[in-house]
Amino acid sequence: MSPNASDAEGVVQVVLGRGPLIPLDYLCPGEAPPGTLVRVPFRRGAAVGLVVARGPAEVPRERLRPVLDVIGPALGDAGEALFVAEAMRRRYLCSWPQAVAPLLSCAHGFVPEAALWEAAATLDPDALDRLRRRAPRQYEALAALGAGPGRLPATLSAALAGKGLVRRYEPPRPAPPRGGGPRPTPAQSEALRRLREGRGGVHLLFGVTGSGKTEIYFRLIEDALAAGRGALLLVPEIALTAQLVDLVQARFGPRAAVLHSAVGDAARHSALRRLHEGRADVVVGPRSAAFAPVDPGVVIVDEQHEQSYQQEEAPRYHAQDVVLWRAARRGATVVLGSATPDLGTFQAAREGRIGLVELPERIGGRPLPEVRLADLRRWPGRIFSPELVRMVQESLQAGQQTILLLNRRGFHPSMVCTGCGHVPTCPQCSVGLSYHEGGEAVCHLCGWRGPAPRRCPECRGPLRLLGTGTQRVAQAARETWPGARVLRLDRDAVQQRDGAERVYAAFRGGQADILVGTQMVAKGFDFPLVTAVGVIVADIGLGQPDYRAAERTFQLLMQVSGRAGRAEHPGRAVIQCYDPDHPSVRFALRHDYLGFAEQELEERRRGGYPPFGELLLIGYSGMEEQAVADLARRRTEELERLSGGRARVLGPAPAPIPKAQGRYRWQTLLAGRRRETLRAIAAGLWPLADGPDLREALIFDPRQFR
Ligand SMILES: [Zn+2]
Ligand SMILES: [Zn+2]
Repeated sequence: MSPNASDAEGVVQVVLGRGPLIPLDYLCPGEAPPGTLVRVPFRRGAAVGLVVARGPAEVPRERLRPVLDVIGPALGDAGEALFVAEAMRRRYLCSWPQAVAPLLSCAHGFVPEAALWEAAATLDPDALDRLRRRAPRQYEALAALGAGPGRLPATLSAALAGKGLVRRYEPPRPAPPRGGGPRPTPAQSEALRRLREGRGGVHLLFGVTGSGKTEIYFRLIEDALAAGRGALLLVPEIALTAQLVDLVQARFGPRAAVLHSAVGDAARHSALRRLHEGRADVVVGPRSAAFAPVDPGVVIVDEQHEQSYQQEEAPRYHAQDVVLWRAARRGATVVLGSATPDLGTFQAAREGRIGLVELPERIGGRPLPEVRLADLRRWPGRIFSPELVRMVQESLQAGQQTILLLNRRGFHPSMVCTGCGHVPTCPQCSVGLSYHEGGEAVCHLCGWRGPAPRRCPECRGPLRLLGTGTQRVAQAARETWPGARVLRLDRDAVQQRDGAERVYAAFRGGQADILVGTQMVAKGFDFPLVTAVGVIVADIGLGQPDYRAAERTFQLLMQVSGRAGRAEHPGRAVIQCYDPDHPSVRFALRHDYLGFAEQELEERRRGGYPPFGELLLIGYSGMEEQAVADLARRRTEELERLSGGRARVLGPAPAPIPKAQGRYRWQTLLAGRRRETLRAIAAGLWPLADGPDLREALIFDPRQFR
């Protein structure tokens, strides 16, 4: 049976976030172009989905169920929403439901409040009379709107709108922002001038820590509002604690909508509702806010190098990709801010593919902290070198604050049997357990916790506790500087108390002298009293099997030393390490991003790593080791065949962590010059295994700029 026009009429194809892999057909009498959010009956309940196409139906019309509600365009613009969903599928090789899931999450909480309608400005008395006689239900609904805007069932709104008797209610534009803010410095004014000149383009705002990027962001947002548009400001999750939110709310008042998982469901829903209704138009949030329903005149990604912009499970999107697609559709200006941009983005700016605007100095000409190196090989067994002890002592005497960074939680990160060398591992992962305060053993991969074994489970020999974690550093700090008030900030501390926010507030409020923590202490926050920063072991992350290990270490060292001396006091930092010659350490000592980038990019070029080549990882996991290994071998052979020499196929091999959360993991790596080639090769694996027993994932290198 061939579909004809009447079959296609009023039929929409809808993708549900957690539904079947293919779009489902529904009847939709009203207007719902592709990219529209709808509520539909699904199984025995209802679900929100995205219209991805219109008719014809795969099944006979009589068997189709009607859409319950037309919610409105996703992202605030249906065409844009469809464009983004399709780009997600193409770019991340994910399924329809995976591609639309993030768009649907920004509809959540708005669903019960479907569109508002109001009566048309002039109503023809004859038409009204006809309506009263022929369609009394429509007439009653229309009469009810006489009291003001209201909601209508989809069938009634479609019928009434078709007759020109009702129209969608457009709430009045929100109040103008309060403005204000400090006078820009000459450097800020110059950066603003260049960004305004490059309106509609993509720019890297490369500015050292403390150079005043926030004020530039706020002024660009004010520009967008003045032009009748909205703004999107993405920040790393950790920066979304009270400090930044207060600044945004002070500046933009009720027009600001903070989309943050920690604000609680009610607050998030209310923010989304205000956005959907047009009452708010300045969005601040983490990576998921990239899908917020707003018309952005400007899009800002602050600390764009942060890993938290990358979603780690499907769809494995990078928030920077998403906002770039949206900005391209909407003609928005994009500003990517960082003191240590990711090398792919930096290379794009260097090649002139995107704009480069620099803010080379700290506000008020404050000098960057003086950074010194302490070679830990000279002080075996010590946590603090004499250089670090002296620096902290002086800071304490001056009544100032210190940050001590160690990117490893717990008390002793590892345990080993002195008798047989056995390492107690997590029952679910192939990862050694860490010893935590209170005699707990913790898996840092999956979070498993249990009582720490006292003796070796294999030979009953004594267990030795090795290495240093943040808990041990905090204890050593109390012993080394008696009387100093020490706070700890890491994932354990955050779980015990009520969140990072409280620790931040206490430290900022001067209720402690020393803050010990993981990378959380390095990010996003401005502590005016901190004059000293100590890095306990700088080269801790360099051994990881990841070509970005050097870049990440360098960024972390730059960031944490930038925490020192942000107000009127000059800052100092001591970096302790085992390999003082490593480029990540050497260049961080001199605050030399350009030097580091130059050297590291050359390494990447030679090795064919991004941004000079492309990588695609195919991961396999499952509950049975043999089945996973077999799948990996089969798939690798397929990939060899599909690639036909167009890409290097590396593997199969067990993943760097061969077992996690009870699942065995293998992988194959594809390396080649062009992303499109790798994608075409990997697409030949379709359909992917996706179940509890066996699962496959395609992971493109996330830190790429296009
Ligand atoms: Zn043993
Ligand atoms: Zn585990």
